[in-house]
Amino acid sequence: MRRRWVRGFALRFLYPLLMVVGSFKKAKKEQFQRFIINLNNRLVRAENPKTKKILLLLPHCLQIDECTIRLTHNIYNCERCGKCEIKDLIQIADENELNLSVATGGTLARRIVGNLKPEAIVAVACETDLSSGIVDIYPLPVLGIPNERPFGPCVNTQVDLEKVKEAIRFLSSGA
Ligand code: SF4
Repeated sequence: MRRRWVRGFALRFLYPLLMVVGSFKKAKKEQFQRFIINLNNRLVRAENPKTKKILLLLPHCLQIDECTIRLTHNIYNCERCGKCEIKDLIQIADENELNLSVATGGTLARRIVGNLKPEAIVAVACETDLSSGIVDIYPLPVLGIPNERPFGPCVNTQVDLEKVKEAIRFLSSGA
């Protein structure tokens, strides 16, 4: 319980404070967001939640831009061609019997969480969306994994699949 309180303090007080500082020092803002994500992940791991009711929440930008299939309402519309990691992420979710959704923003992500009512979340997104989402969804435990952006923000992003698998293993082992 004390650990959850510490997480609440970090997310509800430290995060907004750092964002105010970050609004004056723009170059530092992403560094602060990454700090909050890492701190949150450490605190969630210390709480050691165990559940099989996990939601894997992904950003829309993992879908390669040349693919025209609409995934936001149903990620299983993906035809598994393998041109992007959506195929691998569906396989990971299937193997672990997880709920899997793509969100285009914070409002949709909150709606998905409200509908599916998971007990823990593995979330992939950029530092901005991830840190604000983790704060919004507190006290639900979220393990956040920042995406990789070799082509710049919001287009053809990628994620380290091993990190996703490890986060799922951590939350579900022994549940
Ligand atoms: S795996 Fe293929 S079909 Fe599925 S989202 Fe990626 S590009 Fe589209």
